[in-house]
Amino acid sequence: MPTSKDRLGLKSHPARLYSKHENGEVTCHLSPRQCRLRPGQPGFCRVRQNEAGELVTLNYGVSVQLTQEMIETEAVVHHSPGEAILSLGNIGCMLNCDFCHNWKTSQFRYVEKKDIHHYTPEQVVETALSKGIGILSWTYNDPVVWHEFVCDTAKLAREHGLLNLYKSAFSISAQAIDQLHPVIDIFSLSLKSMDPDFYRRVTKGRLEPILEGIKQVHAYGDRHLELSNLVVTGLNDTLPEVEKVVTWMLNNLGEEVPLHLVRFHPDYKYTHVGRTSIAFLKEARLRALEMGLKHVYLGNVYENHEGLNTYCSHCRHLLVSRFGLQTQTPGIDPAHRCRNCGASTPITFVPLKKSKTEMRHRREEENMTRFLWHGDINACHVMLHNPTAVPLTVVCTADSASDACGQEIRLAPGERWRFIASRKAPLEKGVQLIHPAPVQVSFAEVLDRAHFPTEALDGQAQQDLT
Ligand code: SF4
Repeated sequence: MPTSKDRLGLKSHPARLYSKHENGEVTCHLSPRQCRLRPGQPGFCRVRQNEAGELVTLNYGVSVQLTQEMIETEAVVHHSPGEAILSLGNIGCMLNCDFCHNWKTSQFRYVEKKDIHHYTPEQVVETALSKGIGILSWTYNDPVVWHEFVCDTAKLAREHGLLNLYKSAFSISAQAIDQLHPVIDIFSLSLKSMDPDFYRRVTKGRLEPILEGIKQVHAYGDRHLELSNLVVTGLNDTLPEVEKVVTWMLNNLGEEVPLHLVRFHPDYKYTHVGRTSIAFLKEARLRALEMGLKHVYLGNVYENHEGLNTYCSHCRHLLVSRFGLQTQTPGIDPAHRCRNCGASTPITFVPLKKSKTEMRHRREEENMTRFLWHGDINACHVMLHNPTAVPLTVVCTADSASDACGQEIRLAPGERWRFIASRKAPLEKGVQLIHPAPVQVSFAEVLDRAHFPTEALDGQAQQDLT
């Protein structure tokens, strides 16, 4: 009978961070779980195992499709606003959260071969450079269990002038964090609760090492850090729960680290409740501000609300306005100071390679395919495939104007490309692609931030306006 490794076509790669025992067992030191494994035995994450007395990783270079998104997708709002990122996710996880929205890739037994792609560090870096994307984002299922590939690729990326963003639930050992420190520039970390029992029951992990890990990153003093608290209906959606998170942040990180109160949607094993109440998120945000945090944001909320924006700490002038994942910086001057009072802002700007944004109009012979926003769906992954032997160009634009102009995306012969499109304004109807007939276009609905949908739509929610 084929093993899971054979079923998915995975190969072994030497792992780091483990110790050997005289009886052939090994102990993995990557996450706080510290799995002790007999020969042949996989760890809790199922992507590391003992092979003949050596620890190997099975997911080196194994990824979901590379996807272009924007930095706000990763709950990062105080660094490079609106900047394009190249998102990478893998398979497996050191946790098993009941409400995981990436469970089809994070939980090894549900992973399907169709969702697996293989990349080398060089291919990842070349893709970012060729598309003009300045930041790699290690995200989705969780980058912790991809440690060797993350470290190798992030190092290469830095050598080529790229930045690295690490979005994680951060159940990771102190040694592993020390290995990430030289190569990761931006940490977007999730603190799900201050209740150890919550972590044990709902995530199958432990709270204490996560708190220690966040403190370790903060103590380096030279890395960008933002925190998210997923507010889950019926589990932690009360003011006392939020107050415990805020108190811990104030006592351990200070008042400047941004906190994102993130809206949850039902998924995986936790589907018997509704989405988090936006009214509660707004109330919780006000409480967190009252308690002393300076920057508290709402996540996964598509409406015009001050909880999405950044204001000057000195004069309260609007610095950055946001709608969903879209960003504008009307209040920041070219020197990156407040346009109103000249004070410095809490936003970090780093010179990055900019994505090319060339505008052009639709040509007669091209097709148009649309995806319409509906219900809670305010974002989608657009998947393009150029099956021909010649380069082709696709134009992506918002709304439904027939004489649309928009951003050009160049596809090499045979290339597949994936990127996120999201609603930019309340009245916007959808996104549209103008493309040569041979280019295949499909969509997958993105429910929330850092969500990698594995199923493409069957065509009902998209309209071909050829
Ligand atoms: S990464 Fe964590 S869960 Fe996976 S084998 Fe190592 S200690 Fe176990």
